[in-house]
Amino acid sequence: MSGKVDQELKLRAGKVIPGGMYGHQSVALLPPQAPQFFVRAKGAYLWDADGQRYTDFMCGYGPNLFGYCHPDIDAAYARQMAEIDVATGPTPRIVELAEAFVETVTHADWAIFCKNGTDTTSMALLTARAYRDRKKVLLASGAYHGAAPWCTPVPAGTVADDRAHFIYYQYNDVQSLENAVAEAGDDLAAIFASPFKHDVLVDQQLPNPAYARRARELCDEKDALLLVDDVRAGFRIERDCSWNHLGVQPDLSGWGKAIANGHPISCLLGNERAKQAASRIYVTGSFWFAGAAMAASLETLRLIRTTDYLERTVAMGNRLREGLSSIAATRDLHLSQTGPVQMPLIMIVNDEGNCDFAKSSTFAGGMIAGGVYFHPFHNMFIGAAMTDADIDHALEVADKVAKTFRERTPA
Ligand code: PMP
Repeated sequence: MSGKVDQELKLRAGKVIPGGMYGHQSVALLPPQAPQFFVRAKGAYLWDADGQRYTDFMCGYGPNLFGYCHPDIDAAYARQMAEIDVATGPTPRIVELAEAFVETVTHADWAIFCKNGTDTTSMALLTARAYRDRKKVLLASGAYHGAAPWCTPVPAGTVADDRAHFIYYQYNDVQSLENAVAEAGDDLAAIFASPFKHDVLVDQQLPNPAYARRARELCDEKDALLLVDDVRAGFRIERDCSWNHLGVQPDLSGWGKAIANGHPISCLLGNERAKQAASRIYVTGSFWFAGAAMAASLETLRLIRTTDYLERTVAMGNRLREGLSSIAATRDLHLSQTGPVQMPLIMIVNDEGNCDFAKSSTFAGGMIAGGVYFHPFHNMFIGAAMTDADIDHALEVADKVAKTFRERTPA
């Protein structure tokens, strides 16, 4: 059970917040040990409302890349905040940041800034349809692109018409992608793809290069736009768009989460081909031009370019994966670890290899009780503020949980 203060806050929340909490940060589906409320975050750590400290393997579900309250990033934010943030027009930071993204991301010739990942994917949808005035957009089935009516995973409040012009294909499956393109006929506006398959509850899959290349070719043949939704994985796979290492450049890419180390900003990047369409759509928001998050993003991009953060997160991810594999082998635990090591999905699986929800929850619950915030069915994140000692501590806790696992979850 989470602590007493957390329980009391949850009771109060239930009275004034629909469902007690909403969206991906609701703990409704998490093990009972998972606290709902946190009062402090610093570096690789979080403190809950009862004062318990956790090494945070969720990194805020992605935004924390360099550590919570990073001194340089937060100083850049504070400096800008003291001068001008939300006002009647944007600050010069918007131009500097667009230039920095164009310099950093190979396929990008322009940027539009917004606030959330859903803003960028929804803007990609508008741009793609405006490009040749076509309707059909291909989505990989099960892929998450946000919580707008066209893409929310929970259909309550939406109507079938919201999804009337989407065609679903299987990620990494060239034949299924080709079939979907054929079904779209002359009306194909875009193919949307996650950088790798990072759906909840199922093993993650790295992109098959043949699938990524075919998606590019099909968009070229049909004069449609290719989007890579890098909201979650952006800058955690490479210092560029996440399909760059496959030699595949999209027309559009969506970014959010880590690009300002937790300060609220996201963006849509695009190439010359998509620029005219992007200048025709009407997109805006009261907070989209705010200068402080842009200053924080400029500093984050500087750290991305000049530090070895990426190599360190990969090394620590490898250390965690190897350590957990050896614990699983010794303790006879059916552990599945998939996806890039720095964004691992770690679940207890049944004999068929599918997530055993109850056992995954018990495992993650044991980790949380031991001060290591693990998630039972969503990919996690290795942060650059973590150290080998944090990974080793997580492995010690995992070994203790694994040791008593069989007694606590009788088959
Ligand atoms: N796309 C992807 C791949 C995501 O992971 C997310 C958020 N988890 C989104 C889009 C939506 O981002 P946001 O929650 O900031 O709207």
